[in-house]
Amino acid sequence: MMQILRKASDIQQFTKESRAIGNSLSLVPTMGALHEGHLSLVKMALKHSDVCLATIFINPKQFNRIDDLKAYPRNEERDIHLLQEIGCSAVFIPEYEDIYSDDSQQVNINLIGLDQTMEGASRPGHFQGVLEIIHRFFVFVKPNIAVFGEKDFQQLRIIEQYSKSLIPKVNILRAPIFREKNGLAMSSRNERLSSLERSEAGFVYAQLKRAVSLIHEIGFEETLVKIKGSFKKHPHIELEYLILADEHSLQEHSRISSDKSMRLFIACFIRDIRLIDNVALSR
Ligand code: AMP
Repeated sequence: MMQILRKASDIQQFTKESRAIGNSLSLVPTMGALHEGHLSLVKMALKHSDVCLATIFINPKQFNRIDDLKAYPRNEERDIHLLQEIGCSAVFIPEYEDIYSDDSQQVNINLIGLDQTMEGASRPGHFQGVLEIIHRFFVFVKPNIAVFGEKDFQQLRIIEQYSKSLIPKVNILRAPIFREKNGLAMSSRNERLSSLERSEAGFVYAQLKRAVSLIHEIGFEETLVKIKGSFKKHPHIELEYLILADEHSLQEHSRISSDKSMRLFIACFIRDIRLIDNVALSR
């Protein structure tokens, strides 16, 4: 039976008991409204550890738009059911006060510029908010393993860098992007799309894949012109950025280079709903 924990003290009890019997512990932080992508993280965590603790917490500090926070989908009962079904050991569902009663725990580390581009540039304060919550979870739980999705690749790189500098004992695992049949990267925010918009949103991944093949033929700058042109013609989907970046440093590049692993990153809007995705380029 999955344990449902709501207080920081419940977490302490749970982790103490797990450690006492020699169990290794994995952590999967989420903001709820769970989908197959989230569940794949929990399954990966369970493969690599004895006990998996998932968290469900919509962290206000990482939202830079109040309307986005208010509209964020919530479905606690269903989430609990889904986690239970796949054998997750426990779920932590705290209130804001349980997490942020002590506001002195600022995370002050050098992110070597990882937070300056893409989502960092578009969403001021977002990654600082992410690190504040992840730091608290890492300190509360002291997991052996934590799993994050490549869907939020920049977040993943930032957490890897944070963990390396501050909490190197935690082994960070990367989970591949889970997609709908039409290629749309699964996301809790997709719940806000109408069924027509959801099927139209397959366009985003289709354009990413098109960019991957074009880039090898005509280079990134020409590719960008073509992809921008296609988005301009789309009646409902607006491109915010398409960026070519080094997978490790996340620094932007204007051409592919054979000695670096690179990725294409995209952000776009359908109405006020922001979608992000990324794809690796083969060398
Ligand atoms: P969120 O609930 O959006 O904060 O996401 C929680 C975790 O699930 C993060 O590590 C995300 O990167 C990951 N995640 C979200 N969507 C997907 C997906 N489609 N495939 C893989 N991982 C995902």
